[in-house]
Amino acid sequence: MKKPNPETPVLTTQDGKPIAMQQALTAGPRGPVLLQDVELLEQMQHFNRERIPERVVHAKGSGAYGTFTVTNDVTRYTKAKFLEKVGKKTEVFARFSTVAGERGAADAERDVRGFALKFYTEEGNWDMVGNNTPVFFVRDPYKFAMFIHTQKRHPKTNMRSQEMQWDFWSMCPESLHQVTILFSDRGIPAGYRFMNGYGSHTYSLIHTQGERVWCKFHFKTLQGIQTFDDDEAARIVGQDRESHQRDLYQAIERGEFPQWRLLIQVMTQEQAAGFRWNPFDLTKVWPHAEFPLIEVGVMELNRNPENYFAEVEQSAFKPSALVPGVGPSPDKMLQARLMSYADAHLHRVGPNWQQLPVNRPRCPVANYVRDGALATAETYGSNPNYWPNSLAGAPQPDEQYKDSAWKLGEVIVDRFDSTVDHDDFTQAGNLFRIFDPAQRDRLAGRIAGALGQAGKEIQMRQLRHFFAADQEYGRRVAEKLGIDPSELAR
Ligand code: NDP
Repeated sequence: MKKPNPETPVLTTQDGKPIAMQQALTAGPRGPVLLQDVELLEQMQHFNRERIPERVVHAKGSGAYGTFTVTNDVTRYTKAKFLEKVGKKTEVFARFSTVAGERGAADAERDVRGFALKFYTEEGNWDMVGNNTPVFFVRDPYKFAMFIHTQKRHPKTNMRSQEMQWDFWSMCPESLHQVTILFSDRGIPAGYRFMNGYGSHTYSLIHTQGERVWCKFHFKTLQGIQTFDDDEAARIVGQDRESHQRDLYQAIERGEFPQWRLLIQVMTQEQAAGFRWNPFDLTKVWPHAEFPLIEVGVMELNRNPENYFAEVEQSAFKPSALVPGVGPSPDKMLQARLMSYADAHLHRVGPNWQQLPVNRPRCPVANYVRDGALATAETYGSNPNYWPNSLAGAPQPDEQYKDSAWKLGEVIVDRFDSTVDHDDFTQAGNLFRIFDPAQRDRLAGRIAGALGQAGKEIQMRQLRHFFAADQEYGRRVAEKLGIDPSELAR
């Protein structure tokens, strides 16, 4: 074997050990192979683990990085930092996808397209997990998984089934609007660059003064809508299953960076109360004539990922990634998706999916979530892992980020303080008073034995609780700790 050029990197194991030869270690030239050929074992074992579970929906996708630039002042609607001034730029990652096909399916098929965006804002990631259609097939989350089953393979034949697809749609007339879009000319986009994206759901925008308006997001392609008719699509699928991936990837490599204009529709609470349709119904649009589009900015995609698996397959979006100034609405489908997307990533990528570079927020992250497979010391370090705590420098919530309360009919939706207006002491005191003197002594002794090992400040804070439950309870523990109760008054 020739010595490689000094410029060429030396092949190594995953542990970094240089590899001398890529030939199996054998007992004699004809084998058998020895179990001690750990370099071969490592390669074969890793190969067995190269795949993660395929997404149940939106399995086939393409992704790219880019930039979002604010072009219009919308601060009268939202306090979102990334929208605070015209000209402000935010890094984004986009993943487009078909819905029904598996990882190897053809791109140019009649299907809805996923339009998922991650804005790496200074106040956390905002994910806009939409489609290329402004509405959806169902409005009740109980029907979501059922609908997807009808788009996938028949349990017996393992083939797509018009019978089950149309059986479901004919049983669910709320699907007609989306069915009409799917079978319209826009049902087969000519590529991901040539379609619009819609948040579809109603979201809320929250202003600095706490005022909340309802909002819909629209991303309009600046490449113009282009579609394939059925014959063209059949021909393309026959020649190229990756036509959307190829188009997006090659356009970016050529420096033809695709752009979309972000526009919003806004509805006030009063307008929502009087609107002739439920404004939170995912099967309905808000007519443009009544709720005109308001320009917000332009998204440009300008960088292809270096590694498809790491950056596109493992990218993960969730409608629950919201930033201050952007919130959910009562839309039942959105409410269900707020849970289910995050849950899908925990299953598919693992509990630390947000630590992967493509998913990682670009702003500081500080919390008490801990450990799990593949946790890194960089993220958690030796920081405390519980809250509340009295440790200097430990992360604390900041009420300036609190969203205003929602008034839903007679009910107020808010984060109510569970520590006020509660009696935490009477029942603990009642129990203490049941104990005879010997039991009280043993209790105080055990508590002091444990509490005495904590810091003085913590001992004092806890002693106040014992006194609040029963004066004798406090006195006994203080005595065992060697603390003069008069110190508590200081
Ligand atoms: P408008 O006349 O104001 O809007 C019509 C819209 O239809 C256009 O702006 C375009 O939306 C969209 N459109 C055109 N061809 C197609 C197609 N083949 N498939 C899907 N959408 C298409 O009327 P309304 O606002 O009252 O909406 C009427 C219908 O238009 C709706 O029922 C809905 O199906 C569709 N639509 C409405 C949207 C909305 O938010 N109001 C958004 C998208 C579609 P765009 O400019 O976004 O491409």
